[in-house]
Amino acid sequence: DDLALSRVLEAADGGVILPVGTRNFGTAREPPVVGRELPIPILRNHVWLALAEVPVDRDGVVRTLPYEGLFDGRFVPSVAAALAGGLQRHGGAAITIDYSISPETVPTYSAADLLGDRIDPAILRGKTVLLGTDGVRPGDSYFVTAQGSMPGSLIQILGAETLLQDRNLQSLPATPFILAFALLLFGLSRPQWLSELSHQLIVCFALAAVVAVVGMILQTHYAIILPTVPVQLLFWLYAVSRSLNELTIRRWRFLQSSMEASNMRHMLTHIIADSSDAILVVDEEGTILETNRRAPEIFDFDTNVRPGTKLSSVVPGELVAGARASILELKSGAAERSGDQVPRLTELPSGRSVEYTITPSCLSGRGHGRGRADKKWYVACITARDVTEKRHQEARLEYMSRFDDLTGAMRRSEFLKRLEKDIVGRKPDAAGSQVVFALNLHRFKTINATLGRTVGDTLLKAIVSRLDRCELGLPASARLGGDIFALYTLEAVSGAAAQQISRRLAEILETPFDLDGIRAQIGVRIGISPVSGKSPSPAATSLMQAELALDSATRTGGSGAVTFDPHSFAHQEKAREIERELWSALDKREFHIVYQPQVTLSDRKIVGAEALVRWNHPRLGAISPADFIDIAEANGFVEKLGRWILHRACEDALAWPDQITVSVNVSPIQFARGGFVGDVKAALRASGLKPQRLHLEITESAFINSPDDLLDTLHELRELGVSFALDDFGTGFSSFGYLSKFPLDAIKLDQMFVRNITSDRVSQAIVQSIKALADGLDLTLICEGVENEDQLRFLRLVGCHQGQGYLFGKPQTSDNLAQSFRSEAVLAG
Ligand code: C2E
Ligand code: MG
Ligand code: MG
Repeated sequence: DDLALSRVLEAADGGVILPVGTRNFGTAREPPVVGRELPIPILRNHVWLALAEVPVDRDGVVRTLPYEGLFDGRFVPSVAAALAGGLQRHGGAAITIDYSISPETVPTYSAADLLGDRIDPAILRGKTVLLGTDGVRPGDSYFVTAQGSMPGSLIQILGAETLLQDRNLQSLPATPFILAFALLLFGLSRPQWLSELSHQLIVCFALAAVVAVVGMILQTHYAIILPTVPVQLLFWLYAVSRSLNELTIRRWRFLQSSMEASNMRHMLTHIIADSSDAILVVDEEGTILETNRRAPEIFDFDTNVRPGTKLSSVVPGELVAGARASILELKSGAAERSGDQVPRLTELPSGRSVEYTITPSCLSGRGHGRGRADKKWYVACITARDVTEKRHQEARLEYMSRFDDLTGAMRRSEFLKRLEKDIVGRKPDAAGSQVVFALNLHRFKTINATLGRTVGDTLLKAIVSRLDRCELGLPASARLGGDIFALYTLEAVSGAAAQQISRRLAEILETPFDLDGIRAQIGVRIGISPVSGKSPSPAATSLMQAELALDSATRTGGSGAVTFDPHSFAHQEKAREIERELWSALDKREFHIVYQPQVTLSDRKIVGAEALVRWNHPRLGAISPADFIDIAEANGFVEKLGRWILHRACEDALAWPDQITVSVNVSPIQFARGGFVGDVKAALRASGLKPQRLHLEITESAFINSPDDLLDTLHELRELGVSFALDDFGTGFSSFGYLSKFPLDAIKLDQMFVRNITSDRVSQAIVQSIKALADGLDLTLICEGVENEDQLRFLRLVGCHQGQGYLFGKPQTSDNLAQSFRSEAVLAG
């Protein structure tokens, strides 16, 4: 048979290929017995040998076949390569089998049928036939990638077909692809429109599909294997990791927000619960959604009332309507939500006063279940506060601000308010006007001091009660202060009627009081002021005027009524203002001194000058010494002012020629207070003026107040060298006694005698006799107020020594006077 076969093979003339190879003959359990499979030598001569080994990859799968292999020390082509027509290298070390070539397309026939001539030889003519096992025998079937298992012979056929069809698959390197797609995926999350995970996943899957399709096309048409598996894997990994990541983030966010929401709710619940105000949250239907602990306390409802109850069952209708209205307003957009709400006040049936605000709110959020559309709903929050106690206190304070605590009489502000109201529409007419009375109790302080404050208080109450019951057409009385009361007439009354009312008031109050067994009697002084419609605030003005009149009545003493007189009060007002301003005027340097020349009448030569003080007030203007010296004397300021004048005058006189004297007016108060000699000495010392140049003008009133002290003072000063003139002679007592008793040097005849001297014989006679008197007592006669030549001529005739007046010079500054002395000297020189 071998010979026969060898002959057939020879006849085939190289058309037959026989397999060679190594084979494991052992069984699975035994150690491997590797032997060589090789045709016997007589069969080897006319055939091609080819390697029939099928290399199995490490995972047990067959993917490739070799082109050739080393057998018995020489290279032999693999069966597949031999079938494909020899050893053609296709650029690779192995044939990558294209399993996409379907094995079913390889016609297979049984060897038994062939040997039994059951197969038409025409079928086989011109074909390459491979004789092989059917793979049933163990060790001749291999796992392949696509079809599961396959006999080795079929693998060789597929390998050969792969080569014949030129489909030796070329794998593209995986790494660059993986890197490229990894980059692509990384870039996926970048663009804004791809920020949504779902979009990213869609793009990712689309890319995966594209890669698969491209891979398929490449493999089918170009035998190129794209590394789709790692790329797909990459896509899947990306998709899964992104999804997981998103899931985790969402879960985390959800956890966080639900935690925040729960914290917030917790906090709000606490705030609402602990609030000292009552809080009620209601929905549009007026159903309570939330209340706090204070709500039942303030609105007096059962503490068991739970959310879900109707608001109308627990609070007054006003609040229910308010809540509804506020929501409607917000809904209609009529009310912009504003921070400050003016609290409204309501009285509860329990008598409580409650201040409340209603704040509407629009809430929005996700609905539940299917159709989870955004939903809006409206609520109103009622915040209420119990202000009962506060209101009581306010009412009490308000009452106390209007009425006197002790007597219940009106206070000043309330009195003015009512008076103002009652004045409106009533104009003073010919018959008279409304009248305001201000009353001051006389001897009340004594009663307080002797009988005690309690009795005093009882008396005040009794007085108010009498005033309120007096039936004189006077509405309620007011207590303006300690023991000062005020009343006014509702109707216009004449001056006489006002006086009569005031007399009746005095009678009523002066009737003795019986205060719990104690008899008390008081006097009363009354200030009366008609209400003048001219003033911008007639009530306040007339009350003030009544009080001014009362001041005047009090000063006058005794019981009595004084009616306000605008003229005398204007004068008083000015005097008061002057008194207020006087004390600071010296520090503010508002005073200055002017000097009026005194001349010898025979030659009109200046022998001296009288210092006259001037006050320039920034607001009141120039104030005459005639207006303020009296006040300064009354309040003692003249002492300080006089000291300043003395110093100034002495200093100023130093600038004048040596023989010129300076006359300074001295107020009697300056003598009376003592220390005057010291003042004069100090002024002389400080200025350095010779005492002989200083004349002092005193008035008779100085003699009346303290004649003994004055005499000593004058003597002391005279010893120094200072001389004295008796000022304004002829206006006072003009007692001759003083003239002889006091060490005088001159008499100043008052200007009222000089004024009429040319026409009035009496004045002429007086001047003549005073001249005789002066001569007799060896005193210089100085005539004041010489204004014209006629007067001068007459005074010369009489023989008066010196004169002072506008004719010789007006009061002027020291500098002016010094200047005229200098020009006089130039003329003389
Ligand atoms: P007095 O001492 O009799 O002063 C004379 C007043 O007559 C001054 O008014 C003077 O300006 C004014 N007089 C002078 N010549 C004429 C004239 O020809 N015609 C008229 N009609 N008046 C003339 P004055 O300065 O207003 O002073 C008024 C009074 O104020 C003074 O009367 C004096 O009693 C007092 N006085 C002025 N200065 C002082 C002062 O420094 N100390 C004190 N204690 N009293 C002063
Ligand atoms: Mg004088
Ligand atoms: Mg005088």
